[in-house]
Amino acid sequence: MSVFTDRYIKNFMAELEARNPGESEFHQAVREVLASVAPCLEEYPYLLENKIMERMVEPERVIIFRVPWMDDAGEIHVNRGFRVQMNSAIGPYKGGIRFHASVNLSIMKFLAFEQTFKNALTTLPMGGAKGGSDFNPRGKSDAEVMRFCQSFMTELQRHIGQDTDVPAGDIGVGGREIGFLFGQYKRLRDEFSGTLTGKGFAWGGSSLRPEATGYGVCYFASQMLATRGESFEGKTVVVSGAGNVAQYAAAKAMRLGAKVVTLSDSDGYIWDPDGLDEEKFAYVQQLKNVIRGRIKEYVQKYPSAKYFGDGAKPWSVKCDIALPCATQNELDAEGARQLVANGCICITEGANMPTTPDAIAIIQEAKLLYSPGKASNAGGVAVSGLEMTQNSIRQKWTPEEVDAHLRRIMSDIHDACTRYGTEEDGYVNYVKGANTAGFLKVAGAMMDQGLV
Ligand code: NDP
Repeated sequence: MSVFTDRYIKNFMAELEARNPGESEFHQAVREVLASVAPCLEEYPYLLENKIMERMVEPERVIIFRVPWMDDAGEIHVNRGFRVQMNSAIGPYKGGIRFHASVNLSIMKFLAFEQTFKNALTTLPMGGAKGGSDFNPRGKSDAEVMRFCQSFMTELQRHIGQDTDVPAGDIGVGGREIGFLFGQYKRLRDEFSGTLTGKGFAWGGSSLRPEATGYGVCYFASQMLATRGESFEGKTVVVSGAGNVAQYAAAKAMRLGAKVVTLSDSDGYIWDPDGLDEEKFAYVQQLKNVIRGRIKEYVQKYPSAKYFGDGAKPWSVKCDIALPCATQNELDAEGARQLVANGCICITEGANMPTTPDAIAIIQEAKLLYSPGKASNAGGVAVSGLEMTQNSIRQKWTPEEVDAHLRRIMSDIHDACTRYGTEEDGYVNYVKGANTAGFLKVAGAMMDQGLV
């Protein structure tokens, strides 16, 4: 790192931390991007003079609002709602909504910041945003979730629209929640538009949207593996999470010939030495999406599997490929050391920022294939972008058509990463590649549009 780069990052981060105290996840996300793009700033001084980075870390708008709702017993609860509209340089704001007890402004800003670069990488015209609430849907009845979603949307609807800001799902927001949110939006605005994505197939949704993030992760991982003459065929795969992304990443890995041996939730993980098959996958879908049970119930159904509780993570399980698909900072230095020591060759992120900075350093030092979520999990928002297109032209594409678009987009993102991230020794630094490609696109659009 040059003296300029080193000094620039230190000064920039000191100011960012002072202006945004306590927002550790946001600081982490900015620091990573800055480390990748600082050489570009040195190379193109007009980006520095125009304070592009300073503008990118300041959201265009942050909306924080009260979400009151009543539970089934008649008790009133008050949650906090957020929408961070980070950057609209290349299109309407776009990004998911997360319902999880941990949601706060720092997590919303980190996700919206990441989303800006991810959306730029998809090649589609979408700006970056994120929203959510500290509401925890776990253990709530359908009626409680519906009342919460209706209250949340009663305020949010003022700030979104098909040409302004198009939310989607994320942790805790799946098909059920998007349905309730869309129903309330339609009622209040008297319009049937493509303002939310992840809609049900019968009412405006795209085929393959539920599968898109997980499938895209595996398409991206396949491209990474191909750079070393490898593929999923015959490999052992460890997956964390058991939600939307984890389920479809696991299913696609299995269908590409790999043995998927773990799934997890925040309580622990299951290890199935025989690997997932179609019947077990259907059971997991029923368990998580219909019954809304916990992953430990898997071992009651399949006793040859083992459950490890107390919040244990699956990284000590020997594998060739690891797909972290649960949440931020779930793979730490200890986990990274275990993966490296056990001969893992490829880590492809399905979640957003699941790997801590010191874990990334260990993985890259060992020259493992490693991709950041903003590149490898972009398939979800890409198919959301395709859902917007289908809504606009009032047409539906077949699963084959959507899958072909998804494969092409993941391949284009891989190309962008190798173009900007290949180092002198041939090692592809996907973090640098993804950050640089996304940054240059957004920065160029911001320059074109003047000081706004
Ligand atoms: P889901 O809510 O469907 O599933 C989340 C999974 O992660 C659950 O198994 C959950 O377990 C687990 N999890 C959540 N918090 C923690 C935690 N603190 N520690 C351990 N496990 C945890 O969410 P998604 O699958 O949609 O999202 C997963 C990740 O992928 C997130 O980082 C999200 O931002 C990212 N992502 C999602 C996209 C999408 O299309 N859905 C698109 C791109 C990225 P539990 O039930 O115990 O909470």
